[in-house]
Amino acid sequence: MAFHPKVINLIKCPYCGNDKDFIEIIDDVVTTTHYVQNTDGSFTIEEKSSQALGDVKFFCGDCEEDLTSFHQRFSEMIF
Ligand SMILES: [Zn+2]
Repeated sequence: MAFHPKVINLIKCPYCGNDKDFIEIIDDVVTTTHYVQNTDGSFTIEEKSSQALGDVKFFCGDCEEDLTSFHQRFSEMIF
């Protein structure tokens, strides 16, 4: 039986070919952090969430070309 490797569709910069380094820039972010105060007065982060209000831009980490059209796919691939 032939072995078929999984086809992985990598995001690749069409300008320089980079498929490793990427930069995401978010204009306005509201960060909500829930803290629990411990008995010694220190705080522990219980939950942190952030919501982007402004534009989200996506750039190649090498040549810094605008790759925002790939951002949707990028955000689905963050684990
Ligand atoms: Zn590039």
